[in-house]
Amino acid sequence: MNVLNHESPSRAWVEVDLEAIAHNLDIARQALPDTELMPVIKAGAYGHGLEPVARRLDNHGIAFFGVANAGEARRLSRAGIRTKPFILGPSFPEEREEIVLNNWCCTISTVEEAAHFQQLAAMYDKTFLVHVAVDTGMGREGFLPEQLADMVPLVKAMPNLKVDGMMSHFPSADEDVPFTQNEIELFNRCVETMQPHFRLRYRHIAASAGELGYEIPAANLARPGLLLYGIAPMASIYDGVLRPTLKLSSRVSLVRELPPGHGVSYGRTHVTAAPTRVATIGIGYADGWNRHLSGKGVRVYINGHYCPMLGRVTMDQIMADVTHVPFVQPGDEVELIGPHIPVTEIAALADTIPWEILTGLGPRLPRVYR
Ligand SMILES: *Cc1c(COP(=O)(O)O)cnc(C)c1O
Repeated sequence: MNVLNHESPSRAWVEVDLEAIAHNLDIARQALPDTELMPVIKAGAYGHGLEPVARRLDNHGIAFFGVANAGEARRLSRAGIRTKPFILGPSFPEEREEIVLNNWCCTISTVEEAAHFQQLAAMYDKTFLVHVAVDTGMGREGFLPEQLADMVPLVKAMPNLKVDGMMSHFPSADEDVPFTQNEIELFNRCVETMQPHFRLRYRHIAASAGELGYEIPAANLARPGLLLYGIAPMASIYDGVLRPTLKLSSRVSLVRELPPGHGVSYGRTHVTAAPTRVATIGIGYADGWNRHLSGKGVRVYINGHYCPMLGRVTMDQIMADVTHVPFVQPGDEVELIGPHIPVTEIAALADTIPWEILTGLGPRLPRVYR
């Protein structure tokens, strides 16, 4: 494969299937016909590339793009994206002027934050729309439910601030069903407390896992992330329906025969038991191929064969046993994540979650779009 690159030739790259992402968004839409959607594209669309993914989904009838911070929102607006960015986490004070000026949407978790937005909106003589965050169990942002009643009159008295929505976030939708069900009731009660005072156009609490498993009567907006990238966090009707969106590939740079008793890679954690044909492959932890994958039974896929990775992951290279592969030569493609090796398999071996593997794919890997 020929890849345009700042390096020549490409050692490793990521292929992204934008149509598959659009397909997965359609699946979410079909499953939730009465719910609006906020595709979550923070952290460079989970390694798939912020601007290309945003461009593909823009004008796709979506309410917002979920981003991490003002920097990502700015990148979207510079790329000419028309869908409004929604900044998911708390904003820093120094980000807020830009947020207000650009009418990006964000959350408030304290009356102090609200007052700062009010001050900035008054300075520019505009009405600024915010969503009230409520902490129903995540412990990361939001008013505690019992603080809402005291907050209401204070925020209502801020003439340039308009509360347009209310949001929360499940901490364990994929792990603790009873807790999550109680949380949904709590969220419903919070919405009821607020509705008489603010016209809550958007009410949202579910990410991918929450969308799959639960009825949430008070919500009318959902925030799918991982689901868009082809991974269902819970076994569900989505299994087999979602399409994989990303392939991580590298190339063999060298093939050598090593005698028995020869170490492979740093620390010599692997020592050959027999004569072994070893392929050196041009990817390493500096690309996001996590060093915690060392010695965990990871396999790569070369010329139609699974090949065990040998020894530790190094910064720019890994080694694999290709003794059983009839013909391998430098330049051959190596699949690390893709149709034969799901990212969930890699995440489990690294003792982490697919989100971290995807967002860890580094800037040194060129993205190639189909
Ligand atoms: C990241 C994030 C999401 C998306 O989560 P997925 O599990 O990837 O679907 C939704 N909401 C918030 C607040 C987030 O931080």
